[in-house]
Amino acid sequence: MKLKRFLSLPVLSVFLLLGFIYYVTIFIFIEDLSGLRSSAGLVNSLIFSLLAFLCVFSFIACVLTDPGEVPSGYTPDVEENQSPDQEIKKNGTPARTCDKCSAHKPPRAHHCRVCGRCVLRMDHHCTWINNCVGLRNYKSFLLLVFYATLASTYSAIVIVSCTLQKDWGSFGNLRAKNIHVGCGLLSISLCLTLGSLFIWHVYLTSRNMTTIEGNRAGWLARRSVLSYNHRYDVGAYKNFTLVLGPDTLKWLWPTANSHIKDGLGFPTSS
Ligand SMILES: [Zn+2]
Ligand SMILES: [Zn+2]
Repeated sequence: MKLKRFLSLPVLSVFLLLGFIYYVTIFIFIEDLSGLRSSAGLVNSLIFSLLAFLCVFSFIACVLTDPGEVPSGYTPDVEENQSPDQEIKKNGTPARTCDKCSAHKPPRAHHCRVCGRCVLRMDHHCTWINNCVGLRNYKSFLLLVFYATLASTYSAIVIVSCTLQKDWGSFGNLRAKNIHVGCGLLSISLCLTLGSLFIWHVYLTSRNMTTIEGNRAGWLARRSVLSYNHRYDVGAYKNFTLVLGPDTLKWLWPTANSHIKDGLGFPTSS
């Protein structure tokens, strides 16, 4: 049952954190900055509520969407068997089957030890969503990081503005000062962490790489053993459309996934 994925401490912690940041940003800091009944307060609250809704929606989509499993009885066709697009293990041995599942593994699929199965176009297993990030939920994951970066940046700007405009000389409440500094540090740290993660995933998407492939490219580059030839890179714009879809109007909607194919083969540059 997919709903069971919500019953995990990291997933529940994300909901608690989101709820906490939503509450303090709107009911403490926007209220303090301009008052919730003023037009500025209302606009700020609406924008932040929209970002918070998009975060929660993307998060739920990430948790509930199956990243994609290898169909039972999958066998690679002859051409694919002979092509070099099968992954190469670090010792140089071609890995055509999964040792754990004792089954054929499509290109870019990997075995996840936590999920106990092979996942199509596997990116990584994410504890925070209690699910693998793979073929079918990578778009919602990318948008989750995008909306969470926007929301935490918005929250940080509101909190810092509120803190700076206060006359702390006459407002000597130590507890209030601690709340302002604590919430400010929390939102700024989230903003920097999520922002860095977002930049990394935008880079990976622009090269049509998964986190596993990006790390492998870095690993090979550091050792100067082999240059990593990523044959799935078909040009930055096309790479983005492969993840976000061909229709730019649907790029920002986490569940608009009708463009995703079976994940058993991928366009290549050669
Ligand atoms: Zn496997
Ligand atoms: Zn997994």
